[in-house]
Amino acid sequence: MDERIALLPPGMQRRITISGEHWMWTGGVTHGYGRYDGNRKSSSFIAHRAVWEELGFPPAEHLHHRCRTPLCVNPDHLEPLTAAEHAREHNPRPTHCIHGHEFTPENTYLRKDATQGQMCRRCLADRQLKRYYSLSLDERRARGLAGSEQRRQRKARTKAGIEMDGRVGKRR
Ligand SMILES: [Zn+2]
Ligand SMILES: [Zn+2]
Ligand SMILES: [Zn+2]
Repeated sequence: MDERIALLPPGMQRRITISGEHWMWTGGVTHGYGRYDGNRKSSSFIAHRAVWEELGFPPAEHLHHRCRTPLCVNPDHLEPLTAAEHAREHNPRPTHCIHGHEFTPENTYLRKDATQGQMCRRCLADRQLKRYYSLSLDERRARGLAGSEQRRQRKARTKAGIEMDGRVGKRR
């Protein structure tokens, strides 16, 4: 028996049965997880969280069961994760987009928000092209010209800046 179990309050110990590597909670159950009401110290009445905190680990908002056994309270089988990591654990990313393009590192665009959702770069480019060609010729010309005109001016400014700096630097 793991000596850490002896460190737990008796009310907790009584509700744990060792099963192979798992510490199975045999007390009450709520939403599939062990329920422990007797602990005043823990920030949670969910058994695996209460055991985790009772053993001195810092409270974690997302405490994932690496062993995929929700009633297990063995801290070695638990892992604190960020919300995004936890969501990913339970909903692994697809390997291909809905149009069948593989999510290779080059073809994957990760959203900058907290979801860190992945998007297919090829489909993003396709959508951009489609949007472009759905515009009338005038709209396209207006936007296209506006876009390239801005780019041209920016490039000209940058170039001028570099050349000026370069000359100053080179000559004396
Ligand atoms: Zn386990
Ligand atoms: Zn989990
Ligand atoms: Zn795609």
